[in-house]
Amino acid sequence: MENSESKESSQCVRVAVNIRPLVTSELLVGCTDCVTVVPGVPQVQIGSHAFTYDYVFGSVGQPSSLIFDECVAPLVDALFHGYNGTVLAYGQTGSGKTYTMGTNYNGEEHNGGIIPKVMETIFTRVEAMKCSTEFLIRVSFIEIFKEEVFDLLDPNTPSFSKSDGVYLAKPTGPARAPIQIRETVNGGITLAGVTEAEARTKEEMTSFLLRGSLSRATGSTNMNSQSSRSHAIFTISMEQKRSASCRTGVVQDDVGDDILCAKLHLVDLAGSERAKRTGADGLRLREGIHINKGLLALGNVISALGDEKKRKEGGHVPYRDSKLTRLLQAWKHFVSSHLNTQ
Ligand code: ADP
Ligand code: MG
Repeated sequence: MENSESKESSQCVRVAVNIRPLVTSELLVGCTDCVTVVPGVPQVQIGSHAFTYDYVFGSVGQPSSLIFDECVAPLVDALFHGYNGTVLAYGQTGSGKTYTMGTNYNGEEHNGGIIPKVMETIFTRVEAMKCSTEFLIRVSFIEIFKEEVFDLLDPNTPSFSKSDGVYLAKPTGPARAPIQIRETVNGGITLAGVTEAEARTKEEMTSFLLRGSLSRATGSTNMNSQSSRSHAIFTISMEQKRSASCRTGVVQDDVGDDILCAKLHLVDLAGSERAKRTGADGLRLREGIHINKGLLALGNVISALGDEKKRKEGGHVPYRDSKLTRLLQAWKHFVSSHLNTQ
């Protein structure tokens, strides 16, 4: 994608703002909308300040699927063509990151989040291509909490139980062991021993999303009792192998190699609020400091990648400053889903 000539695809980082509607608790205390969408341009206005993005979503009457159709569907398409992609949900606690990504999946039917839609799109396409292509699709689901990486799909730490059809997170369990980031001989990054679960159907992949969602570390703060203080990364890796019959026939697209591998990373970042705004102290404050370290480093990496001049000159990208950005190091294509709080 980065090498493509078109303006759209040569852009390394694209930023969308998604304005969520006021929630009941806000309406009850008389909150009103403070963000205005400027018609015809991807711009929002707050008071006398105007901010321009690549996309603005969340206007009244706009279908909620638009963010997926415009920002994420092209990345799913690129995945089938062998390109890596990343969607980052960034914003302060309560702005709608988890809702938009669908990382709070609780076993109920499709909740409209980006991850469930990605899964549906992938498996519909896999079904249509399966006579000509063999697929190996795997998922991993990790979280970075206090600068340590945890495997949310670790089979050794059963994290939920099902009772009368309702999934319950287990309140206690064995202490989780962090996993190590290792550098490979060719300079790549791997997570030592992370679960990479094969998903042959949408239902199988959904079960991994459910399992991981229920394993996430959460903590209460003054801002949002359900707030998650960790970065959650759901990664779909796809290996495609064209079958022999297809190799001898007319090639259906520009897939050049016999085996094509690519990854799509779907990231629900921790709240971007400053530690003091959460009224946090002690343990929670320390968590806040770690979270900010990852987000600060992420901001620097995105700035470096977004600087076209620097990129062309092969300028330094400070990936090594946090676990989050070290993991991002291997990822080539970003779309940042930037969420705004009312
Ligand atoms: P965050 O993950 O950023 O802390 P959440 O995803 O938990 O925020 O969202 C905060 C609240 O706002 C939740 O009650 C959620 O249901 C609601 N919400 C978020 N986005 C939307 C939306 N687009 N439409 C309706 N409600 C939303
Ligand atoms: Mg959240």
